[in-house]
Amino acid sequence: MNTIFRHIGVISLAVLAGCAKTPETNSENIAMNNALLAEWEGPYGGVPAFDKMTVDLVKPALQKGMELKLAEIDRITGNAEEPTFENTIEPLELSGKELERAFVYYGIFSSNVSNPEFREVQKEMAPQISEFNSKISQNEALFQRIKKVYEKSKKNPLSTEKQRVIDLIYEDFAMEGANLNEAEKQRYAAINKELSSLYTQFSNNVLADEENYVLYLDEGQLSGLPESYVKSAAKAAADRGKGGQYAVTNTRSSMDPFLTYSDNRQLREKVWRNYYSRGDNGDEYDNNQIISDILKLRDERVELLGYDNYAQWRLQNRMAKTPESAMNLMMQVWPAALARVKEEVSDMQQIADEENPGITIKPWDYRYYAEKVRKAKYDLDSEEVKQYLELGNLTQALFFTAGELFNFEFTPVKENTVPVFHEDVKVWEVTNKDTDKLVGLWYLDPYARTGKRSGAWATTYRGFNQLEGGEPVLASNNSNFIKPAPGEPVLVSWDDAETFFHEFGHALHFLSSNVAYPTLNGGVRDYTEFQSQLLERWLSTDQVINKYLRHYKTNDVIPDELVQKIKKAATFNQGFATTEFLASAIMDMKYHTTDPDQIDPDKFEKETLQELNMPEEIVMRHRTPHFGHVFSGEGYAAGYYGYLWADVLTSDAAEAFAEAPNGFYDKETARKLLKYLFAPRNSMDPAEAYRKFRGRDAKIDALMRDRGFPVPQDSLQ
Ligand SMILES: [Zn+2]
Repeated sequence: MNTIFRHIGVISLAVLAGCAKTPETNSENIAMNNALLAEWEGPYGGVPAFDKMTVDLVKPALQKGMELKLAEIDRITGNAEEPTFENTIEPLELSGKELERAFVYYGIFSSNVSNPEFREVQKEMAPQISEFNSKISQNEALFQRIKKVYEKSKKNPLSTEKQRVIDLIYEDFAMEGANLNEAEKQRYAAINKELSSLYTQFSNNVLADEENYVLYLDEGQLSGLPESYVKSAAKAAADRGKGGQYAVTNTRSSMDPFLTYSDNRQLREKVWRNYYSRGDNGDEYDNNQIISDILKLRDERVELLGYDNYAQWRLQNRMAKTPESAMNLMMQVWPAALARVKEEVSDMQQIADEENPGITIKPWDYRYYAEKVRKAKYDLDSEEVKQYLELGNLTQALFFTAGELFNFEFTPVKENTVPVFHEDVKVWEVTNKDTDKLVGLWYLDPYARTGKRSGAWATTYRGFNQLEGGEPVLASNNSNFIKPAPGEPVLVSWDDAETFFHEFGHALHFLSSNVAYPTLNGGVRDYTEFQSQLLERWLSTDQVINKYLRHYKTNDVIPDELVQKIKKAATFNQGFATTEFLASAIMDMKYHTTDPDQIDPDKFEKETLQELNMPEEIVMRHRTPHFGHVFSGEGYAAGYYGYLWADVLTSDAAEAFAEAPNGFYDKETARKLLKYLFAPRNSMDPAEAYRKFRGRDAKIDALMRDRGFPVPQDSLQ
C-alpha cells in the first residue's frame, strides 16, 4: 500500500498546462467539511478518523483531493523562478496530503470493510484515478522543471539524499516517455492503449477457459480425494446446476489437490490437460496471437525510449539492474534443480513400481506420487503442530523479535484513544526501548470477515520522512484468521505463522524508516520482499520456540522432534517447485530479450525448454498462454525472476546471522540489519546497501543449502 501511495505521490503529480486554477478558499472549505480529507487529530501526531468514515464521503474526498493536488502542481509549474530542488522537488514531495489521507480510507474500504455500495464507487473512480495519474506523468511543464533540476545536479551534485530523490523522480518520468517528442509521445500513448486492451483480452481468455473446462465427476470417481475436497466439489457442481455431481473446476486451487490425491490416473491426465492448455486450445480464446502482439508492442515502445529490449528497460531501476544478471542467477540454480528432479522422480518411480507396476511417471503423476513420498519420508501432522501455535503467543513472539533486533517496545494503547474501523482491530504504541522515544503505532486486524479481502498484507497509513518533521509511523498488519468463540484460542498452521512473521517484517520495515524525503520510502520490486522473508526465519529460532511455541493447554514447549520434522519437510519436493518456477521465470526473461519478430509463442516455448533440458515430468508453473503475471499486465513482465532474487538475499542474509557469534540474536549483525537493510528503505541503492550489510555481494550458496541442493563451486550472484 505504501508503494502505491508513493507511486501516486510521484507519478501522479501533474496537471494539464492551462488547466483552470482552483478557487482556493472555497475548495479548502469543502475539504475541511469532508472527514476523509481533514487533518488527522488526536494523539500520536494525529491518527486517521476511522470512526468517521462513511462510503458516501469517498468519492467527493477523492475528487477534491485530486483537484487540490493538481492545483498545488500548478503553483509549482507557475513559479517564475529558475527551477531548484527547493522550489520544485520539495513542494512536489509535500503536495497531495489531502489526497493521501483520502486514499488511506479508500484502502480500508477496498481491503478491510468492502461492500457493494463501495464497489460501485470504486468502479466509478478507477478511470478517474488513472486519468489523474496521466495528468501528472504527462505534465510537460512539470517535467521540464524536474529535468532542469536533474541536469543541474549532474554538473553540481546535490547532497546524497537529495540526489537520490531527484534521480528517482526523473527516471520515473523518463521511463514513462516524458523525454519523447510530440509524435513519439502520440505513438507511445497509442501503444499503451492498445496494450491495455490486449491485457484485458488475455485475462478474459484465460477466465473463459477456466469456466469452459469444468470436469464433472460422479460418486464412483472420487477415490483418494479428501472429504473436504469432495464437499467443495459437490457445492461447485450444485452452483453450476449439476446437483449430485462433483465439479473439478479449472483453477489452481482445484487442480492442485486433485492431482495430489486422486487415484484415477486417466482423470488426473484430463484435469492436467485442461489446466495447462488454458489459452492454448486453438479456438476463439487462444492467446498465442495476443502474446505475439503484446511482445511486439512492448518492444516498439521501449525502442522509442532507446532500449534494445523490454527487459533492459524494466530492470534498470530494479536491484538486478540488467537482464543478464537476473538470467545469470537463474542459470546458476537451474542445473541443481534439474538434478534434484531426477532424484525425486526416481523416489516416486520406486513407489509407482510397487503400487502400480508398468507406470512411468508423467506430469499428471508428479504431485500424486510426491505426496506418497512425503507421507513415507517426512510425515508431519499439521494438526499436532497447530496446538503449539496460538495467536496471542505468536503476537508476543513478534514483539520479542522486534525488541531483540530493532530495540522496539510494543505497548497496547488505552481503549478508545485511537479510532479503529472495526472492533476486532487492536492498536499498539511502538517506542524505542532505551530512549522511550515514540516510533509509531501498529494496528492489527487479525480476523476474516465478509468484505475483507483474503490473504495477509501490510500497509502504512503514514510513512516516516524528515521533511515533514518525522511524524510517528502508522503501520498495519492484516490477516484472515478465523475468529474464535469467546474464550477459545486461535490456533494457526506453521505456514500461517510464517506469514504472520512475514507481514510483520513489512511493518518493521515501515516503522524503522529514517528517510529524508517521502519518495525514498518507495519499494524496489525484487528487493522489498526480502526484508519480510528474512523475518520469517526468527519463528524457528530457539529463543522464540522455547518462549512462545507452547501448547495452548499444557504450556509445554513444542517437542524438538516436531521442530526437526518441520525443518526437514521444508526441503521436500524442492526439485519440482524450483524447476516449475524457474522454467516460467527463464521463459519470461527470454520473451523479453528476444526479437519479437522471431517469436511464435507455442513454438518458442517448446524449443526454448528443449534447449534448457526441461524434464519431461514437469511443466512450467505458468505456461505462456496463461502466464497472467506477465501478459495480463506489466506487474511482473520481465520481473517473475524477482521471487528467486529475494530468496537468494533472504538465505544469504539469514546465514550472516547463523554464522555470527550470537547467532540470530547477535547485536552487531542486528545493528547492521537495521542500519543498512531496513532504515534506508530506497534512499540507498539496494545492491550497495546489501554489500554494506554483508561485506560482499549475495551468493547463491545459502539458498542452495536451504533447498537441499548441492552448492556449486565459486558462485557469485
Ligand atoms: Zn510480502
